[in-house]
Amino acid sequence: MNDFTDIRNNIISVLKTVIDPDLNKDIVSAGFVKNVDFSENGKVSLTIELTIPTCPLQNKFKQEIEDKLKAIVGIREVEIKFTSRKHLLTQRTTINREQIQNIIAVSACKGGVGKSTVSAFLARALQRRNQRVGLLDLDIYGPSLPTLLNLSSPEVIMLGEKIIPVEVNGLKTMSLGYLLGDSPAVLRGPLASNYVIQILRQTEWEHLDFLIIDLPPGTGDIQITLVQQVSLDGALIVTTPHTLSLVDVARGILMFEKVQVPVLGIIENMSFFECDNCGKKHHIFGKGIDSLQNRFGITTLAQIPILKNFWDASKRDSGIEYETIWEELVEKLLREIGKRRANILKSPRIETTDKIMKVFWEDSTISEIPLVELRRACKCAYCVDELTNKPLLNPNTTPPNITILEINQLGHYAISVAWSDGHTSSIYPWDYLKSLFPPKRI
Ligand code: ADP
Repeated sequence: MNDFTDIRNNIISVLKTVIDPDLNKDIVSAGFVKNVDFSENGKVSLTIELTIPTCPLQNKFKQEIEDKLKAIVGIREVEIKFTSRKHLLTQRTTINREQIQNIIAVSACKGGVGKSTVSAFLARALQRRNQRVGLLDLDIYGPSLPTLLNLSSPEVIMLGEKIIPVEVNGLKTMSLGYLLGDSPAVLRGPLASNYVIQILRQTEWEHLDFLIIDLPPGTGDIQITLVQQVSLDGALIVTTPHTLSLVDVARGILMFEKVQVPVLGIIENMSFFECDNCGKKHHIFGKGIDSLQNRFGITTLAQIPILKNFWDASKRDSGIEYETIWEELVEKLLREIGKRRANILKSPRIETTDKIMKVFWEDSTISEIPLVELRRACKCAYCVDELTNKPLLNPNTTPPNITILEINQLGHYAISVAWSDGHTSSIYPWDYLKSLFPPKRI
């Protein structure tokens, strides 16, 4: 081998020491490294294909790759080009996804938790990161975007079949409220779904980095229509500690995951009140999010306190005084999208018999779980009290010959199970199963 080949091999070995902390994989195995080129004059050029254009890890990768490659004898210059992976297109094409990089739905189990407010301020925060952002309000039972943007009766322009979004200080917006005025609450069922399909199909967003869709609360017709029609990158669930109902949250998660829309995380709004004088955080509505993460295995993207000036999203700098909260939310959100897009997060393989579920973990270990114990370990809100954490299920009532009727993977973080005793709301995060039934070497 000559020096030249040595250096090339060295480059790859060094790149293999750069780890993506979200995927727990090195950037070579994760498939990020493309077109490595080394010229005799000591210059390395390479392309790194990120999972998402705005990946918050880009600077970390750049610095680490440059430092590590320049430490190789014979390398004098490093040139890195960053590109990004395209979202996976599915058959659901009501919205033209060619021009829209990311579509995120914001949902809530109940009304009044701040879903629309969070959607609008999140949109503004993304815009301040130089993203082209659209905000679509499909909350047919109470469209709040016109109020949040201080628009009393915006004029919606139609060009032929196309509906042109209303631009408010650089934010492209469309709301059922713009089209229906203040009488939307009378719309029900199929009529509401028709409006949604029309607005999805006809709005001309042009190029967007993010389209944020504000869904109506609950898991009704509109949500189902939407998730069936649009190829979404994921959903966010907004909740507050005082309206938190684990039954409703579980229903929301199952609705999205059933149609392969990953739940990217949970935002807990009105989470606490921070005292102006002493800076102390008062959890006046109680604490809820721990149990969510613990029971469903889903990431908490933000805990938003009770905020002042949280009603006017009309300006580009709306919410800027709380920038650290948005920064954290946006960063976590982008990383969650990136993880899904990398498409390399593997779930363990499962086999079931009449009596046992076997979970084959990635590290060649196995957990063997008796079905009756798995049923008794259910932590859903029917089986464990959501406020006190006290067991509600009497273990003696579980039939010893219980079987599984249906198992579904929930993203890469959990499984849901429907049981032969009629119980259908069991959700088991992988981490929970691992801790309860410790893996053994195969
Ligand atoms: P939803 O879309 O879930 O029905 P909204 O976004 O319309 O809820 O919010 C309901 C009300 O709560 C609005 O008046 C909004 O200004 C207020 N609100 C929402 N989040 C907060 C917060 N973190 N701090 C203070 N007020 C909030």
